[in-house]
Formats: sequence, structure tokens, C-alpha cells
Amino acid sequence: MSADLSGFAYLVASVCFIMALRGLSSPETARAGNIYGIVGMLIAVGTTLADPTVLSYTTIVIAVLIGGAIGTVVALKIEMTALPQLVAAFHSLVGMAAVLVAAAAFYQPQAYGIGTPGNIAVASLVEMSIGTVIGAITFTGSIIAFAKLQGIMSGAPITFPGQHLLNACLGIGAIALVYWFCQEQTGSLFWTIAILAFVIGGLIIIPIGGADMPVVISMLNSYSGWAACGIGFTLQNTALIIVGALVGSSGAILSYIMCKGMNRSFFNVILGGFGGETAGPAADMGDRTVRSGNADDAAFLMKNAGSVIIVPGYGFAVAQAQHALREMADLLKKEGIKVSYAVHPVAGRMPGHMNVLLAEASVPYDEVFELDEINRDFASTDVAFVIGANDVTNPAAKNDPTSPIYGMPVLNVEEAGTVLFIKRSLASGYAGIDNELFFRDKTMMLFSDAKAMCENIVKVLE
Ligand code: NDP
Repeated sequence: MSADLSGFAYLVASVCFIMALRGLSSPETARAGNIYGIVGMLIAVGTTLADPTVLSYTTIVIAVLIGGAIGTVVALKIEMTALPQLVAAFHSLVGMAAVLVAAAAFYQPQAYGIGTPGNIAVASLVEMSIGTVIGAITFTGSIIAFAKLQGIMSGAPITFPGQHLLNACLGIGAIALVYWFCQEQTGSLFWTIAILAFVIGGLIIIPIGGADMPVVISMLNSYSGWAACGIGFTLQNTALIIVGALVGSSGAILSYIMCKGMNRSFFNVILGGFGGETAGPAADMGDRTVRSGNADDAAFLMKNAGSVIIVPGYGFAVAQAQHALREMADLLKKEGIKVSYAVHPVAGRMPGHMNVLLAEASVPYDEVFELDEINRDFASTDVAFVIGANDVTNPAAKNDPTSPIYGMPVLNVEEAGTVLFIKRSLASGYAGIDNELFFRDKTMMLFSDAKAMCENIVKVLE
């Protein structure tokens, strides 16, 4: 394929990726967005394979078969609730790929058309270094995020005195080493830069506490994009440069949106762990009593309500209660009750988690509202139906300055006439803190698996 033709094909692929991002920004257009993404990727991979400089198709086919088989098995087996850690694991692979491509280019510069060993163009050395540093940071940062999300490592922040100063010194050290590497071009300097960046990646993520993990995931997504962009420069592949920049910037925008949703400072989170205070000691709730009810009580309360706002959370995803919930909502609507859904930006375990589940159950989009759109409506609503959500309703975010989630906007469910909480126990949520709403007079706890409770309410309503 001629250079002009492949350049054109890469441009078409890039346009497809832009359309994909546009489509994926709303549940209504997400399927079309996904198709654009697949088409773009097919064009990009096909064009790369048609490059006359490809040395061995056998190696490529073997690698694609192994990678494709692993990807298929993982995709079929993975639980939706485990997607955040899967995404973190995938990001680590992108980071490592960037480091390895940079190493290959450093040792075989002639294969990349960037000079000869010891005589590589400075611009290429800078690109290579950027790819290595961002890739290595992404690699270790993603591994730590994976370990925290998977529960292999405690989600609590790991902090020590002088941590930010140490990070800053290591960052400056890395820049100085890159400068030196551009002069000397030695393998030992290349690997020193890589090792330093691996250490920085770990140090940036360890102090970030559970409550800030949503931002970390989207931030690592952004880093992996910039790492791919760096590889694109080394490989002189325009599609990779454009796609890397798209992923990098969209990840950064998503991180910003998540920070706004959680009222965190974007730069503090990006630079590592200012927002990760440890959860304070749990309030002593031992001798307090809760009002608990069953499906009959819940059905009675909702049937006699004029309006119900449903607040889904992580437990809703664990229970896979979306279809049962939709059935329940349909029955309520038949009785003339106004039903809406309130989705908190960090509900669940990944951005858009609740929207995906609600869309899967074909919940009408015009019934689903973001926090800002619906928070004022709780005061005039009869029943808040909280299904598997906890942290995103916790008033400690508003009134307890010592709470790790203090300052995060939360759904004002307590303003509704009655608050129904479906969960299996009084256990805390992801942030590890108690929720005093469970003990309020107008709260009724429905201790059950979310799906089982919805199915039982449906039976009663029918
Ligand atoms: P939480 O983690 O605060 O609470 C979920 C609740 O669901 C738990 O208290 C649990 O209580 C209950 N639950 C679990 N399984 C079931 C089940 N089968 N049936 C019924 N209930 C169940 O979830 P939220 O959605 O309120 O908040 C999300 C939290 O996750 C926030 O702290 C956010 O920062 C964090 N996070 C969000 C990410 C994102 O991108 N959205 C990524 C990473 C973290 P019990 O055990 O008693 O049933």
C-alpha cells in the first residue's frame, strides 16, 4: 500500500474513532459509537498489516491468535462488576507496550528510520523518553489500581511524610535523566529512566484512597492514551498518534468530570493522593435500632405514593437487578405513579455503570436523571427507593468534615417522604464508612438481595 493511501486510510480510521467517542457519550447512540470504533479499528489494523515493511506475518498471526483468545475468554467470563479492575489491567498492558516499543526503537533505530545505534536523532530520543516515562508510570500505576480494586491490596491510602516532595524530586530527576539520555544515548540511562518512572507510577497511586478510585481509573485511561501517542511518534504511525491523543484527552476530560462529580481538585488527584484521607473510626452505631420492612411494606408504600425516585448503586449491579427493577417500575407507572431514576456520577464501580444497566433493561432515557438535574426533586417526592446504593446517599459528605467523602455531592434522598434502602445488611459501601441514614425515622431498611427484593415487590404489586 502506498504511503498516500495508508495515510488516507489512517485518516478515515481516525474519523471513525472520533465518531465512536461522540456516539459513546450518550446511551442512545452508544451502540452506533461502538460500531464506528470497530470499523475504525479494522481499517487501522488492516492498513498496518498492508504496510510493505512488515517482516513476518507468521509472528503477527500467532500474537493476534494468542491475544485474541485471551481477550475472548476474559470478555466472556468477566462479571460487569469487575470491569474497573479489568480496565486497569488492560491499561497496564498499554503502558508496558509503550516501554517495550521504545526499547526496541532504541536498540534497533535503523528499523524505525530514526538513525543508527548511538546516533539517534534528538527529537526521536525525546519522543522515546516520553513514551517510556508515561508508559512505565501507566504500567505500575495500573497494577496498583488493579490490586486495590480487586481487593488484593487494601484500598486505604498509603501515605508517609514528605511523599509529595519525594514525588516532585523523582519527577525532576526523570526530566534531568531524559536530558542526559539525549546527550549520551546509553542503554543504562534508558533503563534508569524506565525504572524511575515505574517507581513514580506506584508512588502516585498508593496514596489515593478508595473514594478517589473512580478518578484514578479514568486518569490511567488518559495516561495510557498518551503512552500510545508516544509510541505513535516512535513508530511514525499517524493513526496511533491521533488515537492516543483522543484517548488521552477524552480520559483527561472524563477525569475532570469525575472530579467535579466528587468535588475533588483535578490537579491534586492527578498529582497523587491529596484527597485520600483514611476513613475515620466508624461511628458507634451498635445500640441504635433500625426500622426494617419487607416486600409487602415496600409495595404498599410505593403504591400509595404519587412519585418515586429510584437510586441505583453498586449492589444493584452486583445483584443484576435491572430487569426486575424495570418490571417493578412498569407496574408502578401503570398505577399512575411518577417514576424517575437518579444516577450519581460515581455510583457503581465505573463511569456510566448505572446507565449501562438501566439501558440494558430498556429503561426510557427520559426517566433517567443526573444528580444535578434531580437533586432538588427529592424534597417533593414521596418515596426514595435506594437499591444497592450507599456512599452516594451518605449525608456525612455534607455534614462531617472528617469523613473521607466530605465535599462529594450526594443524592439528597433523606429529603423524600420515606427512604427505602435495599441492601443485605448494615455494612458500609466502598468508602468504608457508616451511613447514619439507615437509622433515621423515615428510613425503612429492606434487608435482601436487590434482585430478590424487586421480584418480591413485583409479585405483591401484581
Ligand atoms: P457503595 O459501594 O457505597 O455501596 C453499595 C452497597 O450495595 C453496599 O453497602 C452493599 O451493602 C450493597 N450490596 C452489595 N451487594 C448487594 C446485593 N446483591 N443486593 C443488595 N445490596 C447489595 O455503592 P454506591 O454505588 O453508593 O457508591 C459507589 C462507591 O464506589 C463510591 O464510594 C465511589 O467513590 C466508589 N467507586 C466508584 C467508581 C466509579 O467509577 N463509579 C470506581 C471505583 C469506586 P450490603 O453488603 O449490606 O448488601
